Amino acid sequence: MPRTVSSLTATILGTPRVGPNRELKRAIEGYWAGRIDKARLESVAADVRTQTWNQLSAAGLDSIPVNTFSYYDQVLDTAVLLGAVPARYDVVPDELDRYFAAARGTAAIAPLEMTKWFDTNYHYIVPEIGPATQFALNPAKVLGEVEEAQKLGTAARPVIIGPITFLALSKAVDGAEPPIGRLDELIAVYATLLATLANHGAEWVQIDEPILATDVLDNAADLARHTYGVLGDLSYRPAIFVATYFGELTDALPALAATPVEAIGVDLVAGSASAIAATPELADKTVVAGIVDGRNIWRTDLQSALGTLASLRGSVGRLAVSTSCSTLHVPYTLDAEPDIDAVLRSWLAFGFEKVTEVVALAKGLTHGREAIAGEVAASNAAVASRKADLRLHNSDVRERLASIMASGHSRGPAAERRKSQDARLNLPALPTTTIGSYPQTVEIRKARAALVAREIDKVEYTNRMKAEVESVIRLQEQLGLDVLVHGEPERNDMVQYFAEQLDGFFATANGWVQSYGTRCVRPPILYGDVARTKPMTVDWATYAQSLTDKPVKGMLTGPVTILAWSFVRDDQPLADSANQVALAIRDETVDLEAAGIAIIQVDEPALRELLPLRRKDKNAYLDWAVSAFRLSTSGVADSTQIHTHLCYSEFGEVIGAIADLDADVTSVEAARSHMEIVGDLTAAGFANSIGPGVYDIHSPRVPETSEIVEGLRAALSAVGPDRLWVNPDCGLKTRKTDEVEAALRNMVEAAKQVRANA
Ligand code: GLN
Ligand code: ZN
Repeated sequence: MPRTVSSLTATILGTPRVGPNRELKRAIEGYWAGRIDKARLESVAADVRTQTWNQLSAAGLDSIPVNTFSYYDQVLDTAVLLGAVPARYDVVPDELDRYFAAARGTAAIAPLEMTKWFDTNYHYIVPEIGPATQFALNPAKVLGEVEEAQKLGTAARPVIIGPITFLALSKAVDGAEPPIGRLDELIAVYATLLATLANHGAEWVQIDEPILATDVLDNAADLARHTYGVLGDLSYRPAIFVATYFGELTDALPALAATPVEAIGVDLVAGSASAIAATPELADKTVVAGIVDGRNIWRTDLQSALGTLASLRGSVGRLAVSTSCSTLHVPYTLDAEPDIDAVLRSWLAFGFEKVTEVVALAKGLTHGREAIAGEVAASNAAVASRKADLRLHNSDVRERLASIMASGHSRGPAAERRKSQDARLNLPALPTTTIGSYPQTVEIRKARAALVAREIDKVEYTNRMKAEVESVIRLQEQLGLDVLVHGEPERNDMVQYFAEQLDGFFATANGWVQSYGTRCVRPPILYGDVARTKPMTVDWATYAQSLTDKPVKGMLTGPVTILAWSFVRDDQPLADSANQVALAIRDETVDLEAAGIAIIQVDEPALRELLPLRRKDKNAYLDWAVSAFRLSTSGVADSTQIHTHLCYSEFGEVIGAIADLDADVTSVEAARSHMEIVGDLTAAGFANSIGPGVYDIHSPRVPETSEIVEGLRAALSAVGPDRLWVNPDCGLKTRKTDEVEAALRNMVEAAKQVRANA
């Protein structure tokens, strides 16, 4: 047991780290491009850390998370910490370059895989654990940050991803058993780490175990009891704070509470407070109450939060206030948004504003509500203003929605649709197409920047984009593709583009959030009822169609994806918001159809991402997600062909839902999963057409015609020639034009060869 430590009363679980103006992002990209050296990069990084810590201390937190900084990703950092980076990167001599090689690959070595962090839009690097993996502690980064923070006088609390979560998120390679089997080995490494941290003066350590809030492991409670039993029993260590987030702990809570750890963090936004009162073992623990939402942007209702906190007091040893999870998932501060409407602004709290909420709540908890009377009054006013705001309730939209839902929103039988589409479209067997976007050329980027800087006007911008559309149409005609697209040059982002045109959303100017590595996105904020006031894509689609006799596919983003990549309302069920967005997309499909567009694709790449973390919640989600998609696509005639596109490789749990979407054509990422998806979808009862991606667009490599032929033959054996489409596995916007041209030429050639023999 550690000696007495200072108590923990107000903290957050982690912070954004790209820099308030994305300084770190720019520095890292500058380093990759050779524009700045390592010393310069390290100094930018140190500045970002110092600024963050100073700000958190000054705001009044009494325990500051450190080691939440990262050059790329915290799971990759943990792999480095534990000596679990695959040996294939050892050929890169410099440590930092080796780290980036694991994250992004080099010309010669493939990177580690990347996948979504729980149900967020943040992507982590997936560690590989194989027979050759030998764990070995490498604590330089965490010790460096602890020391750096201590020098500033910060009450530094190192944050480490826990062994259970680390192993559960890792992937077994080279025939190894599931990594979780190596838990005991890893516990020994963590034991050494804890002693090392104690030696370096760390009073507290935060160990993150979000996996305990999911159903990924069947025996989560046992593993928690065992791991934190062993680590808690160590005689020389910092006080241990096990942080959990993104959901409720169920039986892992009493299991953890029965171990000797000092503090347990619970997410009171995703889960309820009642479990705490029901866990008597918490009577001598510090409970770190994650009551301020760390991943959405709404201002906390302080009065109600204080009530919840007060009700917990009697059930726990000590109570600390915190965000529900790291604020990595929200932008830095509202201060960077001078143009937000003042009313809307009063409803919001970004990263830094959340810190002030935590501090206020901790103060109110210790000194009584009167001590924060001003803050509570302001919060009450915001709550009242939001409730009363007319923009939250558009009765026109609600009535239309209710009437469509009441009259049903399915299309006619797929076979009938197929007949009228065949008659209208006259496509060859194995039709070739692409997923929507074409390369974001230098010209497109320049034009966008010039528009933002007001160097060119909207008319000039539109003309330049039209020139792009024309060149993309000409390219596709020349390549001999069967179904063309306009290339999406006018879209900054597939969600933001729609959010900017819909009532009920607003786009931030500076609300950047890390998506992976140096990639940041600006999720729009959905605050009110959604309404489409005018067509959003029809001009672009009809312009493209006017240039060619081949069919041009209209391109829309689906309701689930629009929600997944936005900050959403927390005052109504997500399903209700999804239906409102679906209605807007439905209106757009109807307008596209009326304008003569015969094929419309509604992308749902995020269908899998929003899947709830607990099994018991999954069906309800899939029901509303599928229903919203159908609502968005069932307003058109049988003769209009609906496509959808999904892009992630682990379809397993959602395969039935994909079939239920009932799109006429579904294109999916498959190049890396070897066409298995075709068989799986067919086995799930899907009888419509499928476009398994025939090559991986995430790599610059140009696929050989023969490889594509081979993949197509494999797919053909599962579905037959009448249901197979030929396309890349995702949009082409990240590729270079010459790569795209060469790859598509081979793809079209492969389709011809296979057709000839089918
Ligand atoms: N239509 C989009 C594009 O091609 C789809 C992107 C995606 O799947 N994420 O860019
Ligand atoms: Zn995709």
